[in-house]
Amino acid sequence: MTQDNSRIPYRHAQPKESPPELVVAAVIPADERIWVPQAENVWFRPLCLCASRGYWMNLLRVRKSGVLSRHRHPQPVHGYVIKGRWRYLEHDWVAEEGGYVYEAPGETHTLVVDEDVEEMITLFQVNGVMLYVDPDGAVLGYEDVFTKIDLCRRHYVAIGLGEGYVDQFIR
Ligand code: FE
Repeated sequence: MTQDNSRIPYRHAQPKESPPELVVAAVIPADERIWVPQAENVWFRPLCLCASRGYWMNLLRVRKSGVLSRHRHPQPVHGYVIKGRWRYLEHDWVAEEGGYVYEAPGETHTLVVDEDVEEMITLFQVNGVMLYVDPDGAVLGYEDVFTKIDLCRRHYVAIGLGEGYVDQFIR
């Protein structure tokens, strides 16, 4: 009879090039200061800032008719709506609590939260860059994982959590 080994852990070292795993206990933080302000009524909460692969996972929080400025994605984005609801000015559907959204490469859109929504929180995985554009597509600015890391670092220094606080989210 073969012995059941289903509960025996893998007995070898992980590949030495493999970075340490990253575990965030409370995705929605108890400490309000963890949210990094991004614009009026818009914050993000870093989860994984993947500098080695050029993408980031974060929660986006928008309160009371906030707007995430018009932007273009050269690469795909995945989103899961944890709380509230939002929509794009460019589409007629609404992303509702519990829903999933795939944003295809090439998409340009403007995320809005309507007046009657107290708060929306969405988990986004964003690859490469977000190019902020005018209504005709002319590029006004950009964000990538490195500007995200910078924003976090500056915020966490300013509120006293220190320069190294963001490092736990970087891989
Ligand atoms: Fe987007």
